[in-house]
Amino acid sequence: MKDTPIQVPQRILMGPGPGNAHPRVLAAQSLPLLGHLHPPFLAIMDEIQDGLRYMFQTKSKYVCLISGTGHAGMEAAIANMLEPGETILVGNNGIWGQRIADLAERYGGKVISAEVPAGAALSLPKIKDELAKHKPAVLFLCQGESSTGAHQNLAGVAEACRAHDTILVVDTVCSLGAVPFYGDAWGIDCMYSGSQKVLGAPPGAAPFMLGERGFKKLQNRKTKVASYNFDLNLILDYWGCFGKRFYHHTGMISNWYGIREALAIASAEGLEAMWARHRKLHLYMWEELSKLGLEPFVEKEQYRLVSVNTIKVPEGVDALALCKNAMDKYSVEIAGGLGPTAGKVWRVGIMGYNAQLANVELVITAFRDGLKQQGYKSR
Ligand code: PMP
Repeated sequence: MKDTPIQVPQRILMGPGPGNAHPRVLAAQSLPLLGHLHPPFLAIMDEIQDGLRYMFQTKSKYVCLISGTGHAGMEAAIANMLEPGETILVGNNGIWGQRIADLAERYGGKVISAEVPAGAALSLPKIKDELAKHKPAVLFLCQGESSTGAHQNLAGVAEACRAHDTILVVDTVCSLGAVPFYGDAWGIDCMYSGSQKVLGAPPGAAPFMLGERGFKKLQNRKTKVASYNFDLNLILDYWGCFGKRFYHHTGMISNWYGIREALAIASAEGLEAMWARHRKLHLYMWEELSKLGLEPFVEKEQYRLVSVNTIKVPEGVDALALCKNAMDKYSVEIAGGLGPTAGKVWRVGIMGYNAQLANVELVITAFRDGLKQQGYKSR
């Protein structure tokens, strides 16, 4: 290997993630390391917890970062909230429900899938029916299904869960900060997110929360959590939730500096302003894309996710060629489909630091140019 400085091209990441990180976040990550139990670092962890409580709209004591990406959040949720032999009802409208089902099986759970077509989400009456039929120990829902661009409504779900003593686990990896989320008011028992999407930080930390009922479930487990790395009894002890600090693993020092900065930036903007900024750009982009003859994959507007937009590939158009042109000519990433949408859609992320008008304009220009090159004419 040559001893030369690393070279990285500049790209505008408008796919489903990662997005570009805020420069202040990147600068924070280059600050000197501290020890993972040094008081100044513990004070930064306390600040992170305050920022997370704001993002999650919760007063819960049990908030932390799980070291690892969104998948680490997924695994922590399943490893702790589900016991072997218990039933989990999985809202399955894309790849994230399928992945949770896979994880749940690995941890000895019995999986029941509540299927809805890709591009839709579960209605509250359907959720209530499925809960009554299966009385599961856990219900999993994904607020922002990034493989299909569908938004899952969460209001009222926790009340339905309580009737059957079901723990509600929610994925907000692609949605937290872009659309409303009310941890306490919606009664969410367990939730995880990701750092590299709306938070505008590099990947490597999964924001995580247990509500009161989620914490009780953890305390009342009959079996030991099968994963050491994801045992919340130990992780929350490192995060000071039980009045002391236990060395579970070395905190991700530099990465958490970045998360601290990202949370400070989000708090300064305010959640309502963030939600409005994302929504406005989403509506604007669709207005412009429809002028080009492009259509949303998610038919019903109520199910359309603001942060990850799925755009139907018109017949005869080479989706990959359009993505390649966008990258080669404009250095902008437009992604293809995933799982049930592979080959059928493009995916455009409007997330966090990248949710700026200039970036959305660039995406529209790349679509206009890419379609023109292929001789596509809107109807
Ligand atoms: N859930 C959702 C909804 C996601 O979009 C993603 C990432 N695309 C994940 C989970 C997994 O996150 P990661 O790739 O950071 O592990």
